[in-house]
Amino acid sequence: MSKRIPIVVANWKLNGGIDLLCASVAAFIGKHFSTKIAICPPYIYMRDMLNFLQHSEIIVGSQNVSKFGSGAYTGETSAQMLKDVGAGLCLIGHSERRQMFNENDGSCQIKVNQALASDLMPVLCIGENAQQREAGITNDVLFRQMHDALADTDITNKEICIAYEPVWAIGTGQAASPEDAQAVHGFIRQELCVIYGVERAEKIHILYGGSVNKSNARELMNQEDIDGLLVGGASLDPNHFIEICKQAE
Ligand code: PEP
Repeated sequence: MSKRIPIVVANWKLNGGIDLLCASVAAFIGKHFSTKIAICPPYIYMRDMLNFLQHSEIIVGSQNVSKFGSGAYTGETSAQMLKDVGAGLCLIGHSERRQMFNENDGSCQIKVNQALASDLMPVLCIGENAQQREAGITNDVLFRQMHDALADTDITNKEICIAYEPVWAIGTGQAASPEDAQAVHGFIRQELCVIYGVERAEKIHILYGGSVNKSNARELMNQEDIDGLLVGGASLDPNHFIEICKQAE
């Protein structure tokens, strides 16, 4: 069991609307959890969610952030803008963004630094795909993703979080086994020690994501280096997501 206070993050992706926003707010308001909980709706709903949840403990986060601070970059949203409206974290380098929007370790590194500079907690998403797993190069892939994206990042007095999301587990219903996930999380922690030193690395949350549901959440969370969960599909049902949050307590 992890020594760190668990964090459970919902990633709505390009899903949901006003109805889901209202249902989620209604489901969470007045409830207390011993875990930290964050919801990342599409950008357009963040402000309403922040207003509705302002007296709750729920953190509102974004699914992405611009690598630019300001300027002629149509359609972008900067880390400082997210911070200004009250966001607490941003996902960076989700596999869908890497696959479909040409994000790579270099752009992730810039985005991590943008988020840190605005005191927005970056949640760097990393993970191997099925072919890489079959080829037995999972750790090599994660090593490169981490060392490239975290190079030259100064986290003094800042917070950062890693989300291990095996691509083959995302949206497939086939989660990593708790033992396999723990082995990978142990490797990630080891590399965080190399990058930031042992004392700091011990405090960093490493989340697991990929087909998490209310039936597998507790067993995953029972692993020493699994400090939280990143939940996609199952977070679109507020009651299911609340059940997962309870399993993570
Ligand atoms: C995700 O996309 O971040 C994710 C974990 O999705 P799912 O829970 O649906 O596998």
